[in-house]
Amino acid sequence: MRPRSLTNADLAELLARQAETAEGLRQRAFRRAARSAFLWPEEAADLLAQGRSLVELKGIGPFLSKEIEGWLDQPPEKTLPPPLRRDFLTLAGARRILAANPDWSKKLRGDLQMHTTWSDGWGSIAEMAAAAEERGYEYIAITDHSKGLKIAGGIDEARLAQQAAEIKTWNQANKRRRLRVLSSIELNLSPRGEGDMDVAALRQLDLVLGSFHSSLRRTEDQTERYLAAIRNPHVHILGHPRGRIYNFRLGLKADWTKVFAEAAKRDKALEIDSYPDRQDLNLTLLKIARQEGVRISLGTDAHHPWQLAFIELGLAAALKARLSADQIVNFFPLPGLLSWAHSF
Ligand SMILES: [Zn+2]
Repeated sequence: MRPRSLTNADLAELLARQAETAEGLRQRAFRRAARSAFLWPEEAADLLAQGRSLVELKGIGPFLSKEIEGWLDQPPEKTLPPPLRRDFLTLAGARRILAANPDWSKKLRGDLQMHTTWSDGWGSIAEMAAAAEERGYEYIAITDHSKGLKIAGGIDEARLAQQAAEIKTWNQANKRRRLRVLSSIELNLSPRGEGDMDVAALRQLDLVLGSFHSSLRRTEDQTERYLAAIRNPHVHILGHPRGRIYNFRLGLKADWTKVFAEAAKRDKALEIDSYPDRQDLNLTLLKIARQEGVRISLGTDAHHPWQLAFIELGLAAALKARLSADQIVNFFPLPGLLSWAHSF
């Protein structure tokens, strides 16, 4: 076996850097392959060592395959990725982290962020539930966008009530199964931490995830916005807290120690959005989360049933940050999760 000189994370960075100087179709191919590298199920170096072809990997054709083989043969010097691409795990890397501690993944009982055809997702509630059952989950929270986020097909109070009825019907028809589908929402928060839905509608839900989707490029400190969101009595979990996107947006700045301390005091949770391009909270912030003992929620932000697999990125980040198991709300059995959410 050839030594594992470059990981998929290294290759992703090399591809992203090539994209910066390439043009046209080639630029797009490099950029797309960089993002795909985060989801390759195996290390490219291992594939080659086994005599397999790199075109097995998503985003890789003959041209890029040759490029990557060249890098693996003669590794260029490693450089730290720029902040826009720093602190992201790959699926292959996450699996390595999780394989070293198999008990950790077994503690997971559900996924607390996903979208369906009710807003901008591609799977129905039943399809998301079927994918969750395949993963052996006890529960999932359906968190479609709320009405203020029109671009993502956000739903209003009337549609939310119809969706809750569909969820109730599913749960009743599947009583004998282990899985419960929870009614939830990804409540769109204003920069003042206020939601865009009637409070009476939110009170009907099992759980409320609140997220910022606007003014995400501000460069000044946003601590006050986070404190306001955490103090919003209707929000249980703050979704994708920083609002960062791989190679696109850095996310907001705040005094995270203060933010996490406030969340811990109020027993609110912050999320690890495990979508590969987000991974938000990231490892650096999770280390502060560990110190402050704040609750953490894991969500995939899945928009397709297959994307429930993204949870491994969040699980691995939590493990790597050495969070304690009782910090993680998705490790609770369902009654514990619901009584936590109803305690506010
Ligand atoms: Zn969101």
